[in-house]
Amino acid sequence: MTRVYLDNNATTRADPRVVEKMLPYFADEFGNASSTHLFGAEVSTAVRDARRSVQALIGAAHDHEIVFTSGGTESDNAAILAGLVAVEGRDEIVTSAVEHPAILSLIDYLREKRGVTAHVIGVDESGRLDMDAFRAALGPRTAIVSIMWANNETGTLFPVERLADLAHEAGALFHTDAVQAVGKTPIDLKSTKIDLLSLSAHKLHGPKGVGALYVRKGTKFSPLIRGGHQERTRRGGTENTPGIVGLGMAAEIIRARLDEEAMQIRALRDRLETRILSEIGHCRVSGDLENRLPNTSNVAFFDIEGEAVLTNLNRAGVAASTGSACTAGSNEPSHVLRAMNIPARALQGAVRFSFSRDNTEADVDRVMEVLPGVVAKLREMARAATETQPALT
Ligand code: PLP
Repeated sequence: MTRVYLDNNATTRADPRVVEKMLPYFADEFGNASSTHLFGAEVSTAVRDARRSVQALIGAAHDHEIVFTSGGTESDNAAILAGLVAVEGRDEIVTSAVEHPAILSLIDYLREKRGVTAHVIGVDESGRLDMDAFRAALGPRTAIVSIMWANNETGTLFPVERLADLAHEAGALFHTDAVQAVGKTPIDLKSTKIDLLSLSAHKLHGPKGVGALYVRKGTKFSPLIRGGHQERTRRGGTENTPGIVGLGMAAEIIRARLDEEAMQIRALRDRLETRILSEIGHCRVSGDLENRLPNTSNVAFFDIEGEAVLTNLNRAGVAASTGSACTAGSNEPSHVLRAMNIPARALQGAVRFSFSRDNTEADVDRVMEVLPGVVAKLREMARAATETQPALT
C-alpha cells in the first residue's frame, strides 16, 4: 500500500544526511565533550560547530547564546521557570490560550501549586492574539511573556517581534516557543528583542530528544537542570553529542534552502487545500490564512468527526492528525480550535495536514483519491443516523 505521511508537525523523518553525520558519535567519537583529553576535544569541536549552525539558522548574535536541551518541552519549561525568578518583585506570566501543552500544563501547575498569577490571552476566530487584552495584561509585576511564534495546529504566525517590544516596554522578558517556526520561516534574532526562544530538532528533520534554548546575552538565567558545568552551567548533564551534531546538521541543511523549500512546500499545501475546498465542499480552513506557516493546513469538515476521517484515511495508508486531545476515549475538540471559537459544526471535524520536504505532488493526488469518498461516506452515515433518531416528543 502507498503510504503518505502528512503529520510533519508531529514529527519529521530524520534527513539521511543528518543520520550519516550522527553515526560516528555513537562509537568512534564517543568522548565526553567536557573531557580535556583528545577524545573529548574532538567531540567538543563538533558540539561547537553544531552550536554555530543553530546560531546561524536563527540569526543569534553569539554562539554561546545557544543552550542545548532535550527538546522543545524542556526548553519551554526552562524558559518560563528562569523568567519567573529573573527579577525580584516580578512574578506574573502572560501567555496565550493556544500555546502547546509544554507551556500551558506548566502554567496550570504553577497556578495551582505555586500560586503564580498567569494572564492567558485569547485569540479571535482566525487565531490572532487579542492585542488589547495583551497590552492590558502587561504590568509592573510581569516577569515573563511567552507567546509562540507559530501555532502547531493551525500554523498561525504571531507578531512576536512586536510582542517582544511591548513586553520590554513593560520591563518583562519575552520568550517564544518557536518549535514549529524554526526551519519553516526566516528568523533573525539579532534584529528583535526576543530574550528566549525554544526549538526542537525533530521538527526540522533532525533527531528526537534534542533541542535548544536561545538565551540572549545578558539575560539573567537560572537553570532548570542543575548538575555539572556543561553549557556554561545553564544545563547540567553530559551533552547528547550524536543528537547535538544531528541538530546542527539539520540546521545547516535547512538554512541553505529555507526560502526555496518553503515555496515548494507551500505549493503542495495549497494544491491540497484548493482541491479539498473545490472537490469536497462544506468545509473551511482554520487559522490566519494571510499569516501562516507554509506547511500547515487545518481543514474542518462540517458535520462529521475528524477522528473518523483520520481512521478511514489511516486504513488507506494516509497519516494526518486532528490535533485534538483524546481523553478517556472521548474526542475532545482541541483547546486551540475552542479558543478560536470556530463554529460548532466545524469544531469536531478538524483534520490537520502538515507537509515537509519529503512530500510530493503524488502524495496530494493520493489523498484526493481517498478523501472525497471518506468524507461522503461519513456524511451519509451521519445523515442516516439523524434520520433514524426517534422524534422528540
Ligand atoms: N512546542 C510546540 C509548538 C510543539 O509543536 C511541540 C511538539 O509538538 C513542542 C513544543 C514540544 O517539543 P518536543 O517534542 O521537542 O518536546
